Amino acid sequence: MSGAASRDRRHFLTASAAVLGAAASTQIWLPGTARAAEPPLPEGVFSLGVASGDPLPDAVVLWTRLAPDPLHGGGMPHRVVPVGWEIAEDARFRKRVRRGTAQARPEYGHSVHVDVRGLRPDRAYWYRFRAGGRISPTGRTRTAPHPESSGGSLRVALASCQNWQNGYFTPYADMLEQDPDVVLFVGDYVYESSPSATAVRRHEGSGEPYTLVQYRNRYAQYRSDPHLAAMHANAPWVVTFDDHEVDNDFAGQIPQDPDKQTHAAFVVRLAAAYQAYYEHMPVRATAIPNGPHIRMYRRLDFGRLARLNVLDTRQFRSDQATGQEGAESPSLTMLGAAQRKWLLGGLHQSPARWNLVASQIMMAETDLQVGEGKLWYYDAWDGYQAERNALMKEFAGIRNPVVLTGDRHLTMVSDLKEDFADPDSDVVGAEFVGTSISSGGDQDQVAFHKQWDPRMPDNPHWKFIDAHRGYHLFDIRRDRIDAQVRVPETVLKPDAASSTRARLRVDAGEPGVRLV
Ligand code: FE
Ligand code: CA
Repeated sequence: MSGAASRDRRHFLTASAAVLGAAASTQIWLPGTARAAEPPLPEGVFSLGVASGDPLPDAVVLWTRLAPDPLHGGGMPHRVVPVGWEIAEDARFRKRVRRGTAQARPEYGHSVHVDVRGLRPDRAYWYRFRAGGRISPTGRTRTAPHPESSGGSLRVALASCQNWQNGYFTPYADMLEQDPDVVLFVGDYVYESSPSATAVRRHEGSGEPYTLVQYRNRYAQYRSDPHLAAMHANAPWVVTFDDHEVDNDFAGQIPQDPDKQTHAAFVVRLAAAYQAYYEHMPVRATAIPNGPHIRMYRRLDFGRLARLNVLDTRQFRSDQATGQEGAESPSLTMLGAAQRKWLLGGLHQSPARWNLVASQIMMAETDLQVGEGKLWYYDAWDGYQAERNALMKEFAGIRNPVVLTGDRHLTMVSDLKEDFADPDSDVVGAEFVGTSISSGGDQDQVAFHKQWDPRMPDNPHWKFIDAHRGYHLFDIRRDRIDAQVRVPETVLKPDAASSTRARLRVDAGEPGVRLV
């Protein structure tokens, strides 16, 4: 990032904080926008803020959702509402480059997804919306570099697992200051759990969500966290879901507790959950769900520097194994045949220096059995041994694969091995399991190390493990990736400071990761 861009950004951080706090509806929309008689909408219609995502060299998705009563279904009239949008090269909208009108439809919860095209590569843009006489907060986003560009650097923040009830989303305050080019969120954006009277802060509603309106209310509550809202307004996000956006540990169309949810009822629940997910995420129309199906696996290129393959390790998987032997069955699949073919094609034909894979669940081995023998988690890639091991063999022929993961509520940074059963086998890549934003709350570090340090000899590929909350920050350049594990002092307070818990490095052409 150039010095000028850096100054632009710092300026915007200040400006946006002011805008988010101001009565945005008093701003004047620039001349030339249609002002046909629009019935006024109530104050707070933009209470869910703005977001952007899935940047391309010439395009980005701009998002908002009209919801003056966000925790009670949204509070919008049951009609289509026109929403004006504009995008500019500056935060004051003097250099506007595109504008238009989108339709916020009741059947999509009055969400708006504008896929703006015709933008210039690798530069910042500012955007905002207008509806019913109200103007949204201003968001800032960034396009991807030109497809042929091979230099430069890319700053990526890896986040996952933000359980509202376990803590504040404190790590995003630090992420905002670190100013990533893109935020990668790999699952558990909301949790479906019931409200708990003893939680740090309590889930809305009276139980787990099952209906579309209940899921909408849950997303709306999460978006009311000011740090999360500000981070969405300051950088494009690339998102995928894991299990808690629907139901803990579900697999395909099989719920966690098939004895309590019939298949028919769970399919209805899946459709509601995917619908609410689409409505609240800055994703393209390719992700509009079709009943209990949603297309989330996709690829984003950042010039020739990095290719990001975003996986869906939830929707197409076989049901989890229940024992070690079952986990080795070659009949189990994690990705499904179509996604596996898509992934391998995209890896082998990649023009990129770095081939990033966003996986919801951990790919490196976790052997829980101290000493002789192995014991795996069956919900992670370890539970799908045949497919994971085959993928590791493919990684041996791929340029600089790095896997970015969530789910574990721990930091685990590992070498990926061609064969985890053979400690002498080649290292074929690296994996960062990016702890959690808040899930698990403040953890007892002494108890963690007492439990996990004895497992280190059984898992020699682990380079660093840690139980603080937070996120990982990556500075990706042609010759190396510099990673930082950023951790807040606590998530029991919204405004605690963060620090770098560890620095790690991956060198291009040398598979594996090391502490520096
Ligand atoms: Fe989680
Ligand atoms: Ca063992």
